Amino acid sequence: MGTTPERRRTRDAQRRLRERGADALVLFPSPNLRYTTGFDEEPSERHLLAFLPAEGDPTLLVPELYDEQVRRESWIEDVRTWADADDPTARVAGIVTELDLDGGHLLVDDTMHARFTQDLRAAAPDATFGLASEILAPLRVRKDETERDALRRAAAVADAVVDDLRALGPEVVGWTERELATEVADRLAAHGGTGVSFEVIAGSGPNGAMPHHTHGDREIQAGEPVVLDFGTWVDGYPSDQTRTLVFDGEPSERVREAHDVVRRAQQAGVDAVEPGVTAGAVDAAAREVIADAGYGDAFLHRTGHGVGLEVHEEPYLVAGSERELEPGMVFSVEPGVYLEGEFGVRIEDLVIVTEDGAERLNETDRGCL
Ligand code: ZN
Ligand code: ZN
Repeated sequence: MGTTPERRRTRDAQRRLRERGADALVLFPSPNLRYTTGFDEEPSERHLLAFLPAEGDPTLLVPELYDEQVRRESWIEDVRTWADADDPTARVAGIVTELDLDGGHLLVDDTMHARFTQDLRAAAPDATFGLASEILAPLRVRKDETERDALRRAAAVADAVVDDLRALGPEVVGWTERELATEVADRLAAHGGTGVSFEVIAGSGPNGAMPHHTHGDREIQAGEPVVLDFGTWVDGYPSDQTRTLVFDGEPSERVREAHDVVRRAQQAGVDAVEPGVTAGAVDAAAREVIADAGYGDAFLHRTGHGVGLEVHEEPYLVAGSERELEPGMVFSVEPGVYLEGEFGVRIEDLVIVTEDGAERLNETDRGCL
């Protein structure tokens, strides 16, 4: 079998395990499992565990009903199945013994359900435990070319939908936020996305001043800004971008000014991105523009978050963060201004940190009209 990205990542993880003196990663259905094995499934009550030892080949323990699926999706050859009539905890204990893990240091998936960690503890009473993210987070934070390619394509789908919405223009006036959100979801699918990567945000007028408002029954009016924040999945990777649009009529001077401030802040944030710069410095670059314009108290959240197999992951662009940016990191730059009872403005693009700066994944117009 050729080298898949998942196989390469597993080899990297195994090297890190050996460097740390740890003996195995034990994963369960999660982004970590998908990252290393290619197998993607929701957690359930059934035992589905991957044992990635520091040396040698990984072992997957899966319910029999997943047998074919796991063989199709994963590069791992040692797949053990158990039937519903079997005792899966005995199977776990058998693998622990076979891999000689009792007495070792095991790094378990951060989100593993307690019942499965308890089975591991019972099977390896002399082992010590840590979290898989100790090994995998530093790997996952730097996206490889396969991941970057999927993120670019997901961003292009979101951009295409923004262009569609802009073209609809006055037609949108009178729709409810909910209707607009449904239209967004339909168009994301029509342009090749799979589902939505989070609930579509369509915050019209005063609703836009609540960063977490998703959508409701309010009707969109001419002249008011609508915060549109949405994304979709492409090959397991999400898009996440925001534009604040006025669909018809003239925005007020106050809307124009706030929109311009956010746009300049967003540009300043993107311009600040390069390897070696801290996440906190990017936050500061965007925040300073907003503060200088007198809207400092209206910028209610961090400037951005990492995006990868999860829509929110490391690194977080938060005030004071000393975390240094590295080539291959992907995150959002999304400053906003939220004026209670009036309106909100947010502009968000995803960027990849390159060797000497940033590659912006969203290129669609950032203006409000
Ligand atoms: Zn967003
Ligand atoms: Zn975001």
